Amino acid sequence: MSTLCLSHAQVVDVTAGMILPDRYVLSRDGLIEAVAEGVPPSSADRHIDLRGRFVLPGLIDAHVHVTAVTADLPALRSMPASYVTARAIHVLRGMLMRGFTTVRDVGGADFGLAEAVMEGWIDGPRLLFGGRGLSQTGGHGDMRGRGEEACDTCFCGRGLGRVCDGADAVRHACRDEIRKGAHHIKLMVSGGVASPTDRLTNRQFSDDEIAAAVDEAAAAGIYTCAHAYSAAAINRAIELGVRSIEHGNLLDDTSLDRFLAYDAYLVPTLATYRAMAAEGTDAGVPAYLLAKLGDVLEAGAGAVERAHRRGVKLAFGTDLLGSMHRHQLTEFALRSEVQPPLAVLQAATVTAAELLQMSGQIGVVTPGALADLIAVDSNPLDDLAVLQDPDRHLHLIVKGGLVFRAPQR
Ligand SMILES: [Zn+2]
Repeated sequence: MSTLCLSHAQVVDVTAGMILPDRYVLSRDGLIEAVAEGVPPSSADRHIDLRGRFVLPGLIDAHVHVTAVTADLPALRSMPASYVTARAIHVLRGMLMRGFTTVRDVGGADFGLAEAVMEGWIDGPRLLFGGRGLSQTGGHGDMRGRGEEACDTCFCGRGLGRVCDGADAVRHACRDEIRKGAHHIKLMVSGGVASPTDRLTNRQFSDDEIAAAVDEAAAAGIYTCAHAYSAAAINRAIELGVRSIEHGNLLDDTSLDRFLAYDAYLVPTLATYRAMAAEGTDAGVPAYLLAKLGDVLEAGAGAVERAHRRGVKLAFGTDLLGSMHRHQLTEFALRSEVQPPLAVLQAATVTAAELLQMSGQIGVVTPGALADLIAVDSNPLDDLAVLQDPDRHLHLIVKGGLVFRAPQR
């Protein structure tokens, strides 16, 4: 039994978009027990005075690749798992210290990493993983170059993706990832930037392959998310039952209709395009891949703005690779250009929690939720810039009731 009491806090209610002044937040054994006014109980094991600070739920990033320790994804394949894991520990710690207490890995992370975080061997956010992303041969998860003859099974054990062709093979891959504890199934249904042999506009996987994955995920009580850029790829995936569209940069009005009709989520990842354009070469992205960025970079913010105006459910995502992980918080700035602070904050808390099927457990500061809490020194509803400089403004990081950073005074 251990109790933690945060006192004199301004609690940010991210659902209502208001500040609850001078509250104490009491947590017991990792769960929030009370958020209340009045005199805080003196019996707690640990007290932290948060006078003048704003407490909000720990942040959620719904699109990360913690094992993408280099931005040169084709090269990732030849790195030993031990080396990748050692560097992933650094990536995970960086995320936690930026205020992210839960992340959804959509390609690469596995049971071992998630378990090591849960058991406390690694300081990192709670890790919801999907195993390897499913890709067709020559698709966004197939990192073989044009000159490579290696058969897909020889290489699919490494990197972020695995290759499967045909509905039966897709079913098998889903069952295998589910066997290994996948929280969701990731599908590559259009071309991408980091894949060496496809075009961005390619449609990938046939209808029956996508439907097979959706069916297997549903059978296991989980859901599918899909990497997709073009409106054609987005629309088809949503119609076939995919629950969350990743990136979505080239969506159009017909896509927005589909999101609303099917109650699907959009997880934009503006941070990665900006970072790749600025420093992709230094980060090791091969030049022939950077050339694929094209209109995706330009279209990103406009897609977020249009989806926001239409009321599409948006979750926060970043998709950063290698040395660019440090730009994770720039997503707040990029979205703030097209959305009000509350909407961006909801994407990184309540809405992401809903997408991750953890509503009420994460993304809120309410009794019964996990004690995932951060505190900053000004009101984030006025300006999200306060979240973007954690060394100066982030004074508290608590995950599951464990304190990783506390104010010094
Ligand atoms: Zn990704």
